[in-house]
Amino acid sequence: MTEMDVGRLSALIRDVPGFPVPEVTFKDITPLLADPDALRSAVELMAAPFEDSGVTMVAGIEARGFVLAPAVALVLRSGFVPLRKPGKLPYRARREEYQLEYGVDALEVHVDGVGPEDRVLVVDDVIATGGTARAGTNLIRGLGAELVGMAVLIELTFLAGREALDGVDLHSILTYDS
Ligand code: AMP
Repeated sequence: MTEMDVGRLSALIRDVPGFPVPEVTFKDITPLLADPDALRSAVELMAAPFEDSGVTMVAGIEARGFVLAPAVALVLRSGFVPLRKPGKLPYRARREEYQLEYGVDALEVHVDGVGPEDRVLVVDDVIATGGTARAGTNLIRGLGAELVGMAVLIELTFLAGREALDGVDLHSILTYDS
């Protein structure tokens, strides 16, 4: 496996201050996605801790989790299941609401997206406060599947999202403490 040094991956994350709201600095992963070696390396690094975990499904969180999760699924030779924003899935769905700074949001999964026979890895680009990740992992557990863990490219450690995920095996490639 070719593993670029984490510093090179980090150099391909673009900070966009004030997007989408003034108090947030957005971690833009598009420069990393555009670099063939970095893209491959990031996906392989996200999959690596779970290579011997018997993962049957990778669940990707809308929207940027959809970019990374199917690639991780290819490495792990598993299937892919989308965790979507409300009202987007065509078939019957289960919903999990979560708190935002102002108001609530929700994620949904098809009721037959995963089942008790599945071992599931949840994937997203960024974990910040952990609300989204918690909703995603709760959806998987709620369908009776085994939650193997969660892989993210970026962890904003100063927002303590990891603590919101009680007991989930969370792996991040790049961490930022401010
Ligand atoms: P949270 O629920 O606070 O952990 O937020 C995580 C979700 O929001 C993920 O799906 C991310 O894609 C997105 N997100 C939150 N903060 C950022 C950020 N600073 N840069 C990019 N995406 C973010």
